[in-house]
Amino acid sequence: MHPDGSAEYANPRWCDYTGMTFEQYQGYGWLQAIHPDDQQRILAEWQSAVLAGKPYEGEQRLRSSTTGDYRWFLARGAPFKDAQGTILKYFGTSTDIDEQKQAEQRIKASEENWRVLAETVPQMVWTKRPDGHFEYTNQRWCDYTGLTLEQIQSDQWAYLPVLHPDDRDGNRAHWQHALETGTMFEYEQRLRHAQTGEYRWFLVRALPVRDGTSQIIKWFGTSTDIEEQKRTEEALRQSQERASILMNSNIIGIFVGEGDQIVDANDTFLRMTGYTREDLRAGRMNWTHMTHPDYLARTVEAQHELDTQQSLTPYEKEYVCKDGSRLPVLVGAVLLEHHSFQAITFVLDNSARKELEQRKDDFISMASHELRNPLTALKLRITLLHRQLAKQGLQAAVSALCSMETQINKLTRLVEELLDVSKIQAGGLEYAQEWVELDTLLREIVDTIRQTNPSHTIMMRGAVQTSLLADRDRLGQVFTNLLSNAIKYSPGAETVEMDLSASAETVTVRVQDHGLGIPREQRDKIFERFYRVTDSRQRAIPGLGMGLYIVAEIVKHHGGTIMVESEVGKGSAFTVTLPMRRGD
Ligand code: ADP
Repeated sequence: MHPDGSAEYANPRWCDYTGMTFEQYQGYGWLQAIHPDDQQRILAEWQSAVLAGKPYEGEQRLRSSTTGDYRWFLARGAPFKDAQGTILKYFGTSTDIDEQKQAEQRIKASEENWRVLAETVPQMVWTKRPDGHFEYTNQRWCDYTGLTLEQIQSDQWAYLPVLHPDDRDGNRAHWQHALETGTMFEYEQRLRHAQTGEYRWFLVRALPVRDGTSQIIKWFGTSTDIEEQKRTEEALRQSQERASILMNSNIIGIFVGEGDQIVDANDTFLRMTGYTREDLRAGRMNWTHMTHPDYLARTVEAQHELDTQQSLTPYEKEYVCKDGSRLPVLVGAVLLEHHSFQAITFVLDNSARKELEQRKDDFISMASHELRNPLTALKLRITLLHRQLAKQGLQAAVSALCSMETQINKLTRLVEELLDVSKIQAGGLEYAQEWVELDTLLREIVDTIRQTNPSHTIMMRGAVQTSLLADRDRLGQVFTNLLSNAIKYSPGAETVEMDLSASAETVTVRVQDHGLGIPREQRDKIFERFYRVTDSRQRAIPGLGMGLYIVAEIVKHHGGTIMVESEVGKGSAFTVTLPMRRGD
């Protein structure tokens, strides 16, 4: 090439590539092989090299005659000067650098892509130099920490102040290890939010990036906010801790059931029932089999409640232990939310309470017997005395004895009731069977009560005109009780009504008062043993809560039902319905 840019010679390889002949490329013909966009630039570069008397170097695209495409070439030329230093010509080479160029282009493009990515991901992204100094941090990192890249580039540990004081040493130690060994950096640490001053948990990770010779060229790192995850983990840990404390406490037996099978149980439950962990593992624990036959029906009911309500109100039952002994328990359960076939059951040993109850029952039974005998004797003596004194005409003494008899009768009734309660507990009352004229029986009862309760008027309405096959005294006890209660619990009222009616199958007796009434939530409970309504006005009226328990039992024995309607402050109505077994 002459210094003016005209070509002198090109080798055949150049000619083959460009498809130009000697004539074509000579002078300024060679320019035709150069990409139009590069022509001006390389001429300018050429000119400045010539002016400076320096070697030429420039990149240009040359068109290939075979494909018609341009490829990148690096053109280099060295000046050849005469003795005076005047450039005579340049000797040059053109080297195909197209692949290298493309690779560079790709790297540039990927570098740009990477930056865009790094700035848009919801994470903090950064790179460090091989020595651990920050090289780049995305905007998110700077916004959160309030630090600029300049502030942390000078010193490797300049970022440490934004870490929680407790995490700084750990971070430093982990980095030192990673840098020494070239292994991944991973550390959970708290970072302070520049605006709020609050610390949040981050998972920080960095991977070494290596070149072709395995040299680390940078660390590529991310910091991910794991505060929510940490909190959830903490909440989970706490709830697990609570559950395991409960599970390991020796207060309450707990087992997990799948169908009838017990799949897990705590030590307390195993200890209570005498089974071993080995029994549990071997699948030898089945709560249906462990339920005492007396409680199977109640258990089926309970299972139904559990299936429909997801949870089971605690109820009393008995398990049979491994050694065959019976264990009274209080059992409650909940279905596991995500395993509807699995349930957690809580089991409380109820034997202490049951034993106490038994002792109480034994005591009531014993006490009522012990009280009855002297009472019977006393009553007999008083009756005799009454007669004798009456014969002797000692009127004053007779009336004193009368009031004694009244008190003794009251006492006797109480003791009789106590005895009835304990008999019901022990297996039931004895009943006679006879034809009972219900109208007559009721009239007799009303008459008796009228005599002792002048405060109220008892209105008896209707008739059933029926005989029932029943125990006369026990039926009498039912209606005496209902009428006495009606009077007792209506201190401000004057009347009590008793309505009799009959249908083809049943007879109905309704006792209505206008007294205190019974709160709705206690209406079922009044038929339980010893239950009394908690209201203070009711409490002021003496009673032991045995009457309705016995009444319900007798009605049940006769195949009937009893129900109550009531309005607090207005009064109550008890309705007894008995099946008719009509006599001749
Ligand atoms: P008590 O000896 O206490 O009367 P009962 O078994 O006969 O025992 O009755 C149980 C409870 O039911 C009573 O304590 C009372 O609170 C309530 N009760 C029964 N009958 C009536 C009524 N007619 N009116 C209001 N409360 C009643």
